Amino acid sequence: MSNQSIAGNEFQEFHSFMGMLQNLDVGLVVLDRAYNIQLWNNFMESHSGINPYEVRNKNLFEVFAEINQDWFKHKAECVFQLNTRAFTTWEQRPFLFKFKNYRPITGSAEFMYQNITIIPLDSATGIVEKIGIIVYDVTDVAVNKLELKAINAEFKKLSRTDRLTGLYNRGYWEECLIHEFKRDKRTKSTSSLVMLDIDHFKVVNDRHGHPAGDVVIKFVADAITMNMRETDIAGRYGGEEYAIILIDTPAHAANIFVERLREYIQGSVIKYQGIEINLTISIGIAELTPEMSSYKEWIDCSDHALYYAKEHGRNQVKVYQKGD
Ligand code: GH3
Ligand code: MG
Ligand code: MG
Repeated sequence: MSNQSIAGNEFQEFHSFMGMLQNLDVGLVVLDRAYNIQLWNNFMESHSGINPYEVRNKNLFEVFAEINQDWFKHKAECVFQLNTRAFTTWEQRPFLFKFKNYRPITGSAEFMYQNITIIPLDSATGIVEKIGIIVYDVTDVAVNKLELKAINAEFKKLSRTDRLTGLYNRGYWEECLIHEFKRDKRTKSTSSLVMLDIDHFKVVNDRHGHPAGDVVIKFVADAITMNMRETDIAGRYGGEEYAIILIDTPAHAANIFVERLREYIQGSVIKYQGIEINLTISIGIAELTPEMSSYKEWIDCSDHALYYAKEHGRNQVKVYQKGD
């Protein structure tokens, strides 16, 4: 074979190789040492709308101003200097090149999520003079994963929430109480536990029916949410019984809060299908003390105070005191 035909074959091979690179279903960009673009394949052209002639020898950061230079250079310099690959995933950074997402299935994503690999392209001397950026479109995977995450979060929320009132349900509220009990013990802070029960609630159900009773239960839950601080944790403890953890609040301060709530409810008129319902609540408060050795003891004390309030005439607040 003549030298000329060998050269002709190599040229042919080179062309088919370039054609392959051009038509890959991944983005391919080659940069020189000064971050000037040397190669820009079809994928990059069709997603950016910029053709190879427009970007050839242009600086990457001038064409794509949104790329964080410091971050990208930090990655790329490792590739240049150490002759190793570098990676970044969509979870670390959603994308390197901000391309619009046109895929019909993953239409919910505004832009293309990308995984990026940066590879060294070494010369005959072993010095890395160019680097290649490979851009993988991982929008499908990312959107699926994000949607699953959102669904899980929604399920988690539902599993913690009481349907009627929107407060935490008893199970989750108790988990919070255990957590708070341990935190208070560790940090020696003082929180208070409030137990609250509607007075003569059976009468509401008997006189006006169960749906009216439900409206009352929701009304009291809303009153609690409206009056408490954002850090306080309220749950529906039973039928018409509620429990609230007042974080970093000693009993005397808790007393001020619940008195305000008691008065508010006493002064409210609940309207349901033309009927007007008045109600009152009884409340027990127990401050966490060093003697309490379990969260159950804390519950027992506030429960005890609540029943004291019931026995002593209802529509009142009782702060737990040993011996009462
Ligand atoms: P007390 O003043 O001693 O608390 O009297 P009470 O009538 O409120 O008695 P109790 O606290 O034992 O009443 C609980 C009632 O709550 C009994 C039950 O039928 C009713 N109940 C429990 N859950 C629900 C609910 O989800 N909706 C309605 N409408 N009623 C409920
Ligand atoms: Mg009751
Ligand atoms: Mg009750």
